[in-house]
Amino acid sequence: MAAADPVIAVEALLFDYPGLRALDGVSFSIRRGTITALVGPNGAGKTTLLNCIAGLVLPGAGRVIVDGIDVNRAPREAHARMGYLADSFGVYGELTVERCLDYWARAQGIATAGRKAAVERAAARLEIADRLQQRAGELSRGLRQRLAIAQAIVHEPAVVLMDEPASGLDPEARFGLAAVLRNLSGAGMTLIVSSHILAELEDYSTDLLVLEGGRILEHRALGGAAGEGADAASIRIELELAADDGNLPAILAAAGAGDIRVEGRTARFSLPGGIGAQAALLRRLVGEGAPVASFMPVRTDLQDAYLALLKESRKG
Ligand code: ATP
Repeated sequence: MAAADPVIAVEALLFDYPGLRALDGVSFSIRRGTITALVGPNGAGKTTLLNCIAGLVLPGAGRVIVDGIDVNRAPREAHARMGYLADSFGVYGELTVERCLDYWARAQGIATAGRKAAVERAAARLEIADRLQQRAGELSRGLRQRLAIAQAIVHEPAVVLMDEPASGLDPEARFGLAAVLRNLSGAGMTLIVSSHILAELEDYSTDLLVLEGGRILEHRALGGAAGEGADAASIRIELELAADDGNLPAILAAAGAGDIRVEGRTARFSLPGGIGAQAALLRRLVGEGAPVASFMPVRTDLQDAYLALLKESRKG
């Protein structure tokens, strides 16, 4: 998928472990401000891909550009622009939350004068500001996870990579994590989140990247509520009228809707332009007297779409 202002560009990446090609010509770009769900079966190459983007391993061929920096040519500069939560993250259990964050702020080269503010900002973003004096080892798994994410974003990176951030969390902690990830995105960070828990990814992701066997099976913007940030992408809408209205297709077409299918009092169509275009269309419909009973973005069922995609790919 092309991106006007890609914050991450991955070009023709090859990565081999002894006797195994883990990434086989992977190319894609990621738009700024998006949250990309990175999914794929066990062994698909997700962790290897994240490690390549983070510059933790060297690909056999290809390159990765993060926020304008070639990760392998200038890894330190690239690291200043990204945060990485590994699947087996660690926190220093003997240190307080504040000391842990301060340590990471120092490691990121944040000057003494700005360090306290950086620590407090990261703690506030992860909603652990009330835990600053508690020892990291005393935190619950969910709060330790938040501390690890706060450590990763203490320098306010442009890009945050997360490998299985929801694993081992209870449902309440996972729900909280989704809100935190949306917050980080709202603060201007671009996120790639690898996970097997598709129902949750669907709650906060704007884009989907599917890997299988070291290749990209699919990369697209997601529709529905989660796709609000994806202005350029069309969102599929389902509209129901309380009574027949022969003008409906013409009104929809005039508002820029495409692929319009009307069956009785129900219409389905695609609408580019994001949430603003939805509001404008709804105003227009009501203004022209269409008896609108419901107007809903159709949410992609990520799990169904993913399973169908894998089935199709395996048939091939
Ligand atoms: P999972 O969902 O199980 O975490 P993944 O999609 O993250 O899987 P990777 O961990 O990137 O996949 O692994 C990709 C392939 O490379 C797998 O076949 C894996 O067995 C293999 N692999 C991973 N790490 C190594 C290693 N250090 N040495 C050899 N092979 C490896």
